[in-house]
Amino acid sequence: MTSADFQTDLSSEAISVLICESSSVQLRILSEAVQQAGYSVQTANNAEDSLKLLNLGTVDIFLTGIEVGAVSGLEACWSLKANTETESVYTIVITASGEDRRLEESLDAGADDFIRKPVNMTELRARLRAASRLVRMQKQFKRLAETDALTGAANRRAFMQYLELRAESATRDDIPLSVIMIDLDHFKAINDTHGHAAGDTVLIQTVQAVQDCLRDNDMLGRLGGEEFCVILPGAGLFSAGIAAERIRAAVESMTISTDEGVKVPVTASLGVASLNNGDLICAPDVLLQTADAALYRAKDTGRNKVWLDGAEEQDDAPQQQQAG
Ligand code: GH3
Ligand code: MG
Ligand code: MG
Repeated sequence: MTSADFQTDLSSEAISVLICESSSVQLRILSEAVQQAGYSVQTANNAEDSLKLLNLGTVDIFLTGIEVGAVSGLEACWSLKANTETESVYTIVITASGEDRRLEESLDAGADDFIRKPVNMTELRARLRAASRLVRMQKQFKRLAETDALTGAANRRAFMQYLELRAESATRDDIPLSVIMIDLDHFKAINDTHGHAAGDTVLIQTVQAVQDCLRDNDMLGRLGGEEFCVILPGAGLFSAGIAAERIRAAVESMTISTDEGVKVPVTASLGVASLNNGDLICAPDVLLQTADAALYRAKDTGRNKVWLDGAEEQDDAPQQQQAG
């Protein structure tokens, strides 16, 4: 391998390759070569196991032989490309030389590329690099399509998709799910007093401050101008309330100054709602409306505070609601 090859292959660190071959010797040879080129490698010796791994959503490139058990590599290819969750997996079929008809079938089955047996490792690495370029580009497009350009938070579409997924699994597995609606207080006045650029800085820093309060599975989305929402899978109303209070305090303690050195004070109001245990159906928009109503109460009763859904019926509501 030349040093140029080595450098390009090293940059493939984050790309994951699933190799499917029925011959364990062939599987080991391919796996070692691909691993040495810097890819993360999973292996399977039949198409059924490959499909299970592919459905987990962690594979970028699928390198498969054709004769790989009762289900052929071509059938696996069809299933892969027919499923919207896996259709973007880049597929390379390994064909025996002289099997031109098989080659045509592979490409018709949705394969993106092919390599002939006996596999030449230099050629394989070159094909994997070409595949990696496309995979990276695709990931970048996906990121752009799902991200709010100003703040880097998830955009409304990506946020709603995640919420729907989480609501489904919360209902199915009977686990808690909460959302925190966040709206900056008197943000129009910040724009009017300090200028739109300062307003933008406030939005960017708010997202960073909120992100720092979240766990890995939580998601922050920008739903509109200065309105954000957090999804907290696994959190009930009480723990979501604690997270919301942490967010409120983090926003209040941000230090933002204009170019002229004028300090910009920022606060937010937050409304928290949860999927009740035993809810048979959780419509994500109902959950959001409930959090929105709680947010409205936080605004209405003085701003810079957290309001939990249903809190007015609780005896200790005033202590829970009052921020700081
Ligand atoms: P409240 O406390 O009741 O929420 O009052 P508010 O001023 O925050 O709410 P209002 O809805 O009256 O104003 C929101 C402002 O947010 C108006 C709009 O110009 C501003 N805004 C929306 N998107 C952006 C943006 O991307 N950048 C900046 N700088 N301002 C934005
Ligand atoms: Mg506002
Ligand atoms: Mg608003």
